[in-house]
Amino acid sequence: MSEVLLTLSPYIKVALPVPMRTLFDYKVPKAIALRHELKPGMRVKVPFGKSSRLGVIVAVSDHSEWDPDQIKPLTSLHDKSPVISAELMALCEWAARYYHHPIGDVIFHALPILLRKGENAEFRTENWWFTTEKGQTTSLEQLSRAPRQQDFLKAVQQHPNGLSQHAASVLDLAPNAAKILEEKGLLRKEPRSFNKGGERHAHVTQIPPTLNMEQMRATEHILDYRHQFHVALLDGVTGSGKTEVFLRVMERLIDEGKQILVMVPEIGLTPQTLKRFENRFNTDIVLMHSNMSDRERLDAWLLAASGHAKIIIGTRSAAFIPAPNLGLIVIDEEHDTSYKQHEGFRYHARDLAIKRAQALNIPVLLASATPSYESLTNALQKRFAWLKLRQRAGNAHIPKMERVDLRGKSLVHGFSEQALVSMKQCLERKEQVLVFLNRRGYAPTLMCHQCGWIAACDHCDVNLTVHKRANKLHCHHCDTQKALIHTCPECQSEELFTVGEGTEQIETQLSTLFKEVPILRIDRDSTQRKSAMAKLTQKIHEHDQAILIGTQMLAKGHHFPNVTLVIIMDADAGLFSSDFRGMERTAQLITQVAGRAGRAKKPGHVLLQTYHPDHTAIECLCNLGYEHFAIDGLAERKSLSLPPFYHQVIIRAESGNEQEAMQLLSTMRNDLEPYFSKDVFLVGPYAAIIVRKAGQHRALISLKSAQRAPLHQATQMMTEWLEQSTKQHRIRFAIDVDPLETY
Ligand code: ADP
Ligand code: ZN
Ligand code: ZN
Repeated sequence: MSEVLLTLSPYIKVALPVPMRTLFDYKVPKAIALRHELKPGMRVKVPFGKSSRLGVIVAVSDHSEWDPDQIKPLTSLHDKSPVISAELMALCEWAARYYHHPIGDVIFHALPILLRKGENAEFRTENWWFTTEKGQTTSLEQLSRAPRQQDFLKAVQQHPNGLSQHAASVLDLAPNAAKILEEKGLLRKEPRSFNKGGERHAHVTQIPPTLNMEQMRATEHILDYRHQFHVALLDGVTGSGKTEVFLRVMERLIDEGKQILVMVPEIGLTPQTLKRFENRFNTDIVLMHSNMSDRERLDAWLLAASGHAKIIIGTRSAAFIPAPNLGLIVIDEEHDTSYKQHEGFRYHARDLAIKRAQALNIPVLLASATPSYESLTNALQKRFAWLKLRQRAGNAHIPKMERVDLRGKSLVHGFSEQALVSMKQCLERKEQVLVFLNRRGYAPTLMCHQCGWIAACDHCDVNLTVHKRANKLHCHHCDTQKALIHTCPECQSEELFTVGEGTEQIETQLSTLFKEVPILRIDRDSTQRKSAMAKLTQKIHEHDQAILIGTQMLAKGHHFPNVTLVIIMDADAGLFSSDFRGMERTAQLITQVAGRAGRAKKPGHVLLQTYHPDHTAIECLCNLGYEHFAIDGLAERKSLSLPPFYHQVIIRAESGNEQEAMQLLSTMRNDLEPYFSKDVFLVGPYAAIIVRKAGQHRALISLKSAQRAPLHQATQMMTEWLEQSTKQHRIRFAIDVDPLETY
């Protein structure tokens, strides 16, 4: 007995979802310690302040630095086994240190929402559908007047081992139809635990193409390094068959029993990626993104954590998905800024994934046609392998990029005559046009003709965007929405007019110019509803002739084989950005959008409308391509001591009071600067470009250094200083390590 007591650990360190950079000590009551083995990663209920909270054990220890009489006992143990594995716990601890973020918040971020709320980490049961004898022999034609039932019955007939409720929802089948079919005696159901699959997945239909030389070399290279930590940058022009390369690598690793995490930047891409994978792999694939219900996400998480799911496709937060046999992480469109979380816990999923792979000793594959300057630098400095694909796969060719000089030309709804003529010809050939304009809504400004009044947001220093279809004025920065007005609030004039154009306006105008042609708009407004994107993509594939209008959503990795003409309405949009990353982003966006043209057999053509056709950036991009552009850009970054050659941290502060945030940062700089290493350079505090956002006045201070260590040291000091000082003020602050936005 005494031996047992000696080995009992009477204290636990618990992470709680609170904005404090610390762990909390609790005692383990003997009754619990005797019956359970407490391990890091298990959830516990603990008293906190006047209430109780759910927390996660980070460490179990036989001592505490605090006075034992002051330490409260935990209330109850929530799990039989850890919900955060040792591997993920280490990753969370690293991330909390690296990003100077509260550990509790990091750990809770790593869990699906339902687990944060206390749901059991167990599989639920779901219904499986089978045909009855009658259902097997019933001909589908008998149900021709009930198409939903027909679809459902057809799907179940095609799955002799049963169709899960989950699979039915993935196939977009109506659950109601199943009920009716059951009543008719055509189907029967059987509850099964969610992980007891059978055939959850679709049938493999596709025969893989023969790889070209470049693809083969890249594939072999990664396969050679598949059992160790190794980062490869798969730098392939749009349509060069990058996906095909990682499909081959995945195939081998799945055969070896490994799980694979594939990260994509945009929810809209998951259906396309899923379909492509399902056509190739006879294995369980799960999705993980924010457009799923909380329960669906927990199901996916459990399937991954239990090792059932062999392939996990997810957006940013999937970087934390548990996978006990993880053998490879693929990051598609690695340059995409949506991998960086811009609020709260500001981590970069790519960097985190690389860290994770290093700890697991597995490879990472970064794919992009326009690699980030960070990854290119790593490739140039030989920290990453640099695998180049410079040919388009199959019979496709790189599209021709042509500048259209807008100076002095008369435009029709923002289109040059050349653009309109090319569009007409393209549509006559029964092909598709993609019009790119990175501005959603009808118009960015509403103005009064009589007094010059402009509709502005009450809470931010920006104008409200006009959304005609929704009949609203909308702030794209704080989400404030108001009814669209037709009378000036200043002078009561009814002569309000819009300035500038957004995708909604282009859509309206093109529908008058091209009456017979289907016009599909793809932006955040048109794809809000679940599966809206999937439906739009389906429509795009159904029609031969069509005009697609979209924002940057369209730039991300989509494969529309019949698009042969791309029109970039405003190539100048990002040329004069005040952010040093402006040029990199512009080049990526233009190259990616241009890359949607001519991805199949037909040749593609890209028109860039510009008022600055001789601007070196536009010229370089059109004539020499992205790699050349980026290498020039990197030389400039180096000469200016900017990232990725210098490391950067930005500290942001915001307050409802106009000067407070600025003053606080200023005092901090004065207090701490004498203690910083000489290798740390400070700029600021300075006001954000949009000073006021959602009612908060925002100021920033930037730190940079060629070395990580002194930078982290300075950041640590600032964080501690701010935690102390903001206790009295109502000022919020945030630490942004490796920021992508600097204003
Ligand atoms: P990327 O990911 O580089 O944009 P994809 O892998 O999507 O390119 O390939 C573009 C198109 O070319 C796809 O339709 C794909 O099936 C096809 N493809 C890829 N590799 C080959 C190949 N070796 N031979 C023929 N077609 C290919
Ligand atoms: Zn007015
Ligand atoms: Zn606003």
